[in-house]
Amino acid sequence: MRFHSARFLCSAGESEQYPASKLPRIAFAGRSNVGKSSLINALVGSKALARTSNTPGRTQRLNFFLVDEKFYFIDLPGYGFARAPKRVRDRWGSFTEKFFQDSGQLALVLLLVDGRHSPMPIDIQMRSWLQSLAVPHRVVATKIDAISGSVRKTRLEELSEQFGSDLLPSSVKKREGMDQIWKEINRAVRGERTPPEAR
Ligand code: GDP
Repeated sequence: MRFHSARFLCSAGESEQYPASKLPRIAFAGRSNVGKSSLINALVGSKALARTSNTPGRTQRLNFFLVDEKFYFIDLPGYGFARAPKRVRDRWGSFTEKFFQDSGQLALVLLLVDGRHSPMPIDIQMRSWLQSLAVPHRVVATKIDAISGSVRKTRLEELSEQFGSDLLPSSVKKREGMDQIWKEINRAVRGERTPPEAR
């Protein structure tokens, strides 16, 4: 994998705080603890660009990173944190919806789902929501190093059936799937459309 430069730009609580530049945006969405920060770090070859955490629902802001001076990675707040107060969950919804709807620069959303488990209702809802908003997206199955053999095969089949055959399996521990994910990001940054089944 070639070297990518990446730096943290800002953490935005409101759309007025987004960077003004019109560069393409690649957003990372997923349940808290699904492995978003780890994937962002792995993609750019950094150990600590995005902060990883075991505290679900801690971050309620959008974190912008400038990659190769050409586009943004955006770490969206994790969803599905059952223990968070309703007020926090409601805010997540309105905040993120605005981001998806307003963002003409949104080239791609990588929706991360936990590859160790069968499809979860909240992820299915999230995917339907992206489809209804016509947001270009691909689904990434994370942590697949943690399963092997027939379990892995069954899990990936189930997830593909639910989320589309173009599901992207990934593991930051084994560095699996990084090239494929980069291919999708580059394609999106160039303005090429994602395959029909992913929309
Ligand atoms: P986030 O809340 O979505 O940003 O999730 P993090 O990136 O903080 O990861 C949550 C937990 O999952 C951490 O303990 C990570 O070490 C672990 N994790 C992330 N990616 C992988 C992976 O590919 N394989 C395995 N086995 N664990 C992972």
